[in-house]
Amino acid sequence: MNIGILAVDSNFPNLALMKISAYHKARGDQVEWYNPLCKYDKVYAAKVFTFTPDYNYYINANQIEKGGTGYDIEKVLPIEVDRLQPDYSIYNIDSNLSYGFLTRGCPNRCKWCVVPKKEGKISPYMDIEEITAGRKKAILMDNNILASNYGLQQIEKIIKLGIKVDFNQGLDARLITDEIARLLAKVKWIKRIRFGCDTPGQIAEVERASALIDKYGYKGEYFLYCILMDFEESFARVNYWKSKSRRFLPHCQPFRDLNNPHQIIPQWQKDMAHWADRKEIYMSCDFKDFSPRKGFYVRNTLKYCEMKLNKKTERLIKRRAAEFKKLYETPNPEVDKIISELRAEATKRPQNMSKEEEIAYILKKADENCDHIEIRKILNVSNT
Ligand code: SF4
Repeated sequence: MNIGILAVDSNFPNLALMKISAYHKARGDQVEWYNPLCKYDKVYAAKVFTFTPDYNYYINANQIEKGGTGYDIEKVLPIEVDRLQPDYSIYNIDSNLSYGFLTRGCPNRCKWCVVPKKEGKISPYMDIEEITAGRKKAILMDNNILASNYGLQQIEKIIKLGIKVDFNQGLDARLITDEIARLLAKVKWIKRIRFGCDTPGQIAEVERASALIDKYGYKGEYFLYCILMDFEESFARVNYWKSKSRRFLPHCQPFRDLNNPHQIIPQWQKDMAHWADRKEIYMSCDFKDFSPRKGFYVRNTLKYCEMKLNKKTERLIKRRAAEFKKLYETPNPEVDKIISELRAEATKRPQNMSKEEEIAYILKKADENCDHIEIRKILNVSNT
């Protein structure tokens, strides 16, 4: 058979596609990345995220099988495929590196996370030796390894075998006891220890946990996943680590509403991620002095960050737009004077603003100067 594999929305090595490739190659089938100019007996399409666009072109194949959280959170690989060693060659992965999960699931239920719904409570899944199969390094994608006794036993085994690892989904700092800290300090980390730092309360937990691990001799970096929701709280949490030490690296993740595929990520979240995710920028520049686009500085319209385009705000914008339209259309010399002043003011606006920034800027100006209220007063007087 002629098999095509298609990663719809992610370049990160896809374990399911690697296992599907291994399964078909073991049967003597030909496997390659999907090429729209070729025809296939079967194409496997994998989509990781629910919020990314689908592959919207014709797929030239007799059979198409779609899988991954982005298509169906309940679909899993057949057991005979799932237990195979992945075909690392499709991603040209280093021959010493392996990928896998020791556990699946999570006992928590964070509102932004699909894992509890998809995988249920935490349970043992594979053994580290089954994953590595003689390789010396492993990227482990467990969602909450420390919440499982089996997971802790596996970490002990990892230490005994001297395997270098990266728990790339982050560890839960709240679960770190003195004993676990001692264990983690003995692990050979591929690059760094990662923690989730999604709430203000987790700052103190990360500090407590990192101090414990450091006590047992760890000297490496801490990479902190920080979800972005409310501007002020998120900024305080992300900015906190700046004055702490260069060993703490926040990594911003804009909040994704899993039930809303049309969600628009606020511009401030994109800008904050742009700023914080580049260590050299984060360390050398305050957010307000950051210039995400040519000629535009965050400080110019920092106020916009407080604005949320929720339904109430959208209604407010529409109502004010209608008011302004009416005012523009009403002949009145005093109104004309104010409008020409507003126009002059508009030319002083910072350049290269995004749509949200521009709306926020106009609203802020309107609120500060109350021109629309002034105009309405004049109209009311002249109408009576
Ligand atoms: S702890 Fe992590 S894996 Fe578990 S529900 Fe929360 S975000 Fe998801």
